[in-house]
Amino acid sequence: MNIVVLVKQVPDSGLARQLDAELRVDRNGANNVMGELDEYAVEAALQLKEAHGGEVTVLTLGPDQATETVRKTLAMGADKAVHVSDEAVAGSDALATSKILAAALGRLEWDLVIAGAESTDSGMGVMAHMLAARTGAAAATGARKIELDGDAITVEHQRENGYDVLTASLPAIVSVWDTINTPRYPSLKGIMAAKRKKVETLTVADLGIDPSEVGAGAATTEVLTAADRPERSAGQIVTDEGEGGRKLAAFLAAEKFI
Ligand SMILES: Cc1cc2nc3c(=O)[nH]c(=O)nc-3n(C[C@H](O)[C@H](O)[C@H](O)COP(=O)(O)OP(=O)(O)OC[C@H]3O[C@@H](n4cnc5c(N)ncnc54)[C@H](O)[C@@H]3O)c2cc1C
Repeated sequence: MNIVVLVKQVPDSGLARQLDAELRVDRNGANNVMGELDEYAVEAALQLKEAHGGEVTVLTLGPDQATETVRKTLAMGADKAVHVSDEAVAGSDALATSKILAAALGRLEWDLVIAGAESTDSGMGVMAHMLAARTGAAAATGARKIELDGDAITVEHQRENGYDVLTASLPAIVSVWDTINTPRYPSLKGIMAAKRKKVETLTVADLGIDPSEVGAGAATTEVLTAADRPERSAGQIVTDEGEGGRKLAAFLAAEKFI
């Protein structure tokens, strides 16, 4: 069972995030981390490998500093990694991102690809579907549980009020939510072992893609404007002088909460 996990380095969603002058996510800050849901994707891959054998390869597309994220996945237990890093990619939209990731998958032998259900920066939630369309593999997305039986995969697709059961034959592309597991922390032994694991670095030309097909110039979407979220207003204080309950109820009714 060869599993590829897609991980993306993103600005820490727990801290203030910025757009740069071209309205792109500013990735030059010090607070870059592995996409939150991608940690669950790595854990799901490691658990499947532990149960069924095989190899876990991590694939990332991002600037040089994304190596830190790759190292973390190797310290968690992934076997090797492929890092596509190329100046020409800056400003790529989701279509170009999927084109590059699909080309990189084309160089690897895999039965299963696991991604986060959505990244914690652009948050489009499309990558698993786009890669399934490009590779011809089945898409089983939004998983809260994955089971493998031979070359059949069963996924519980999470819904707001329950779940659907999806089955498919491998090869398949699965994306996961944070309900699927509890990601492990890298151990000291894992951190040391990661230093010896192989990270292959590729450019888009290595993948047979002309740089003019990706990047800002080839993007099919463009961010025209962006605005800061308005400051929270001070709120309304209801002073209870015997009528507090009524005033609260009137406020909630006016705001259509009741
Ligand atoms: C107009 C525009 C400009 C952009 N400019 C830039 C830019 O300058 N620089 C930049 O880095 N990004 C840029 N992006 C964002 C970049 O294109 C996104 O990575 C891409 O759109 C995928 O969207 P997403 O992360 O929301 O995917 P989602 O579908 O939400 O991601 C789901 C999962 O797919 C996997 N995945 C997604 N992206 C990657 C990746 N790169 N490598 C490995 N796995 C991945 C992860 O597992 C992730 O959890 C831009 C996007 C747009 C629309």
